[in-house]
Amino acid sequence: MTTPVYQNFINGHFLANQSGETFAVKNPATDAVIYHVEVADGFIQSAAIQSAQQGFAAWSAMMPIERSRILLKAVALLRERNDELAKIEVLDTGKPWQEAQCVDVQTGADVIEYFAGLAPAQVGQQQMVGEDFYYTRKEPLGICAGIGAWNYPLQIACWKSGPALAAGNALIFKPSEETPLGAIKLAEIYTEAGVPAGVFNVVQGAAEVGQWLTQSPDIEKVSFTGEVGTGKKVVASAAGSLKDVTMELGGKSPLLVFDDADVSQAVGAAMLGNFYTQGEVCTNCTRIYVHKNIYQEFIAELKTRTEQNIIAGDPLDPEVNFGALISKAHHGLVMSYIDKGIAEGATLLTGGKALCPDSAPKGYFVAPTVFIDCSDDMTIVKEEIFGPVMSVLVFDDEDDVIRRANDTHLGLAAGVFTQDIKRAHRVTHRLQAGICWINSYGNSPAEMPVGGYKHSGIGRENGIETLDHYTQTKSIYVGMSNIESPF
Ligand code: NDP
Repeated sequence: MTTPVYQNFINGHFLANQSGETFAVKNPATDAVIYHVEVADGFIQSAAIQSAQQGFAAWSAMMPIERSRILLKAVALLRERNDELAKIEVLDTGKPWQEAQCVDVQTGADVIEYFAGLAPAQVGQQQMVGEDFYYTRKEPLGICAGIGAWNYPLQIACWKSGPALAAGNALIFKPSEETPLGAIKLAEIYTEAGVPAGVFNVVQGAAEVGQWLTQSPDIEKVSFTGEVGTGKKVVASAAGSLKDVTMELGGKSPLLVFDDADVSQAVGAAMLGNFYTQGEVCTNCTRIYVHKNIYQEFIAELKTRTEQNIIAGDPLDPEVNFGALISKAHHGLVMSYIDKGIAEGATLLTGGKALCPDSAPKGYFVAPTVFIDCSDDMTIVKEEIFGPVMSVLVFDDEDDVIRRANDTHLGLAAGVFTQDIKRAHRVTHRLQAGICWINSYGNSPAEMPVGGYKHSGIGRENGIETLDHYTQTKSIYVGMSNIESPF
């Protein structure tokens, strides 16, 4: 093998597996194998648990402010190495450098910084009950597991480890098999920053390694990001050992554009919410409901901007703003949805084909695609595609469009464009979604809780409440009076 081979990261260093089994990782923009990774076999799995147990003992005994200082050093290193890390994300995911360079590492670092700040601020309660009193302590859970998707690999590793570590837990993280390197780099950075060995471990492999994490009796919690179907399997498996779970799953989010909206702004949001990261974003507004009075204007501008402003090609080229899909298999899946859209009677406004840019001819590109004349029962309107495929639908009544927007078992996100402040809030309050944007789409600052309603998830990431999800409350009752016993 001429490409590098990465090992699992256990107890503060790389550790060779015993099976010798590896898997290959490809650059989606070139179809070339860029490196290999060793699979976490039984030996690695046992070592990971042992390492996390030792890491937890050391880390949880530290004062929160000490943990905070160390995590802030990691934040500084992440920011210092932004470009090196962003390049890894571009090569692993196929997303444009233009995005990775200013979003992926920074939003990951922001979240660790946010939770590092909160760690020393966590307090318990105290209350008198007669002469006696009780107080509570927020204690870490122990060993947690993180399982990540491939669209924002480093960011997901940061979003899971930030609150877990800030609260004093140890984490065993499994990145997606498609994008394993970002988490390894994060492990190196944590180690360099002074996070004790064993606190952040990275195990590599596909579903079997994920399954092991969900089943292990030594792990107290699983935080998972991925598809709804996989999420259900994870919850079922985690139930065997009564693990706490956080589930960040898929979506089929609606964007409602009312007739008083700023049409250009709404078109911009629709494009951002369908074509950013070539459509591989969980919160994407893939169902765009446009009021009939502005429908023609909306689709005319949408077509022009999609055809003129999107530049597909070598994702490392800073001019490129639209990258390759994660894999050949996923490319095939997205194309099959486009075929279904056509077969079920939707009209292609633009796109609808694979792309072969000169600068990346072997990449897995699908053209930014917009379907119009869509109806609510079409497969492309009902199912998450996770690619650059937008469905535009028409409405003329507020109550009816809210009903249609909510008519799905998913509920990750939603958006409303209107200049009417009362309508903006009235409608948003009735939308069944965990994240709603008004005259905006996609922003997700560290301070804001994110997560799904219905089948889109359980629990939240980011925001103050997330730290509670990585702690358990211990109540301590203190007797100050004599015990009254009938015996
Ligand atoms: P998958 O569900 O296929 O995989 C997610 C992770 O779970 C991967 O690491 C995967 O390993 C692992 N895995 C697969 N099977 C099991 C199992 N039985 N037990 C435990 N772990 C398992 O999702 P994708 O990676 O394809 O990511 C895309 C999906 O993620 C979309 O549905 C998207 O909406 C969702 N997502 C949700 C987000 C949110 O915050 N709500 C954010 C980002 C994405 P491997 O891949 O190596 O096989």
